[in-house]
Amino acid sequence: MKTLIKNGRIVDPSQNLDAVMDLLIEDGVVKAIEKKITEKADETYEAKGLLVTPGLVDVHTHLREPGLEAKEDIVTGTMAAAAGGVTTIACMPNTKPIVDSSILVSGIKDRAAREGYVNVEVVGAITKGLEGKELAEMGDMAQKGAMAFSDDGHYVSSTRTFTLAAEYISAFDKILISHSIDHELSSDGYMHEGVVSARIGVPGIPALAEDVAVARDILVAEYTGARVHIAHVASKGAIELIRQAKKRGIPVTCEATVHHLTLTDEACADYNTATRVSPPLRSKDHVEAIREALKDGTVDAIVTDHAPHAPEEKDVEFRYAPCGFCGLETSLGVILTELYHTNLFTINEIIGKMSTEPANIFSLNAGSLKVGNPADVTIIDLNKEWIVDSMKFYTRGKLTPFEGKSCKGKAVATMVAGKFVMRDGVVCTR
Ligand SMILES: [Zn+2]
Repeated sequence: MKTLIKNGRIVDPSQNLDAVMDLLIEDGVVKAIEKKITEKADETYEAKGLLVTPGLVDVHTHLREPGLEAKEDIVTGTMAAAAGGVTTIACMPNTKPIVDSSILVSGIKDRAAREGYVNVEVVGAITKGLEGKELAEMGDMAQKGAMAFSDDGHYVSSTRTFTLAAEYISAFDKILISHSIDHELSSDGYMHEGVVSARIGVPGIPALAEDVAVARDILVAEYTGARVHIAHVASKGAIELIRQAKKRGIPVTCEATVHHLTLTDEACADYNTATRVSPPLRSKDHVEAIREALKDGTVDAIVTDHAPHAPEEKDVEFRYAPCGFCGLETSLGVILTELYHTNLFTINEIIGKMSTEPANIFSLNAGSLKVGNPADVTIIDLNKEWIVDSMKFYTRGKLTPFEGKSCKGKAVATMVAGKFVMRDGVVCTR
């Protein structure tokens, strides 16, 4: 099977490429990128005026399967990814049961390979049951292909346990992903502690809760030499600690979410439960610090932290709402609208942070259209105007703080291993 994508502007940070070219795909892999390819193909896709990029890679999602299918499952979650132009996702282990053994890692991988629409990587738990006490079977899970380890949703509070985990995983060159928020400092709050929380009378979570946790994680990375990846960095203090740690050569990387890059705590002012998330949406000075860090390379990747919940779970008072919301179908559009069309970032920078760099951190065979690589491709119309309408989402967790937002820029086709999984916003039948 040969597919020829013609006349697209190919933007591929992995080869420093930004030029109008043809892309030939054969048997699921990239066969050639040239100015003009005349070879006959089974299908030709005219991409004139469109962007052709390596498929987007989102290393922080929650697919909720097994056990929490009222929120999402592997099928609906990967359909949402395909719709959003995302070709590889990594799912977090806070399911029911928790992904803390190799049988669960292979179970998810098998089901995703059979019924998923995009590539699924699995993040295993650091501790059994995410309880922060006994180490999970990380070696076994690594053997079954776990991408990394995380107790996401929980901070591994015990420094001893986290250090043991770091020593253990460095033996097989894996990465710990830390949900770095001090539990004791954050457990009494529901949103960012600041002017807005004081004004609307909601108990706040100080940015300090994030800063101290990140500081500890950096020290453990330095002491053990293990690679630590800080999930969803949202405070300017944490950003500065990571910047300094990188300068000192400590093996630490980090990601920022779409919402922490584009929304402030003002979004919580009307008690909309769609805005309740961990870490919380912060004030403008924090958002600006994260953007600056994305620019100077302190922040390595943009992620969604796609965390769907059943609608009725979010239909409660602000403080009782579970943290998180869906993000796979809005991430690209929101980032292009807020960071590209505002001239803050180049398209190369954005594709780098949403595809090539996260793939490199976790050594994934993704994020590049080099000849011989899997043909995971996202085709983007940079100027397509659209309005976020959650009723059109494929995810089960419809609630989003971006509801009704006018966006500019959207994925118009998604291809995984040379096969279209989405065209014109519609996910293709398998
Ligand atoms: Zn988290």
